[in-house]
This record gives sequence, structure tokens and C-alpha cells, in this order.
Amino acid sequence: MKSYRKELYFSTRTRRAFINITPQVEECLRESGIKEGLLLCNAMHITSSVFINDDESGLHSDFERFLEKLAPEKPYDQYAHNGYEDNADAHLKRTIMGREVVVAVTNGRLDFGPWEQIFYGEFDGKRSKRVLVKIIGE
Ligand code: ZN
Repeated sequence: MKSYRKELYFSTRTRRAFINITPQVEECLRESGIKEGLLLCNAMHITSSVFINDDESGLHSDFERFLEKLAPEKPYDQYAHNGYEDNADAHLKRTIMGREVVVAVTNGRLDFGPWEQIFYGEFDGKRSKRVLVKIIGE
């Protein structure tokens, strides 16, 4: 069995952002040489997410509004976590959007359903953060 590991780095200029990272993940798969197996992709921070959905800007605005309704950023003092930090909302948003995705690798390609793309969801950005890609198989 082959095994491959790589860390990707993302630094957003805004506090929140959604980035389609499918091209970088596909590059990892090419680099690994693995044709049949499983690919895991996870955020390595507790205030960002990796998730799969549609690359459609209206939907991304809807995610932003949905998350702000459930866990609004402000006022900061509504959260017990916000003593030394102001990112309680980011922890909650991350929990809603998830930590990782697993994608089947078939014939050397990501075995997606229709319109599936992999996104990095940033909820407390403006600094460098990591995403792990781990692939196992043959
Ligand atoms: Zn925090």
C-alpha cells in the first residue's frame, strides 16, 4: 500500500472566505501516483473547515447568511469563549461546516458525484493556516 501526505497553506485577507481547493487536491493525487484508494482532506485548525458542495456564488452567500444567523460574529461579548479571543463564532461555524472530507479515488481520479467540489472554509482568517491531504491506496 502506498501512502502520501501533504500540507496545503491558505491565508485569506478577510476574516471569512470559501476557497475551492479542488485543483490543489487533484495535484496532490497526481503527485501521489495512487490510482485506487481513499483521500482524506481536513482543516488543521479548529476555526476553519473542509467541506464538499457546489461552486456557485449564490450558494456561498447563502452559507454566509445561514452561518451568521446561527452563530453571529458580533457582539463579541455574547460568547463565553471570547475572553482573550474574539473568535467563538468561528469555532461554532467550523463545527457546523465540518472538519474533513473523504473522497474515493478511482482510476487515478477523485470519484465525485455531480457538481461536487472541495472547499476550504475560513472563519477566522488573516493568517496562514493549514489543510492536510492524506491519500492511501495502490
Ligand atoms: Zn478561540
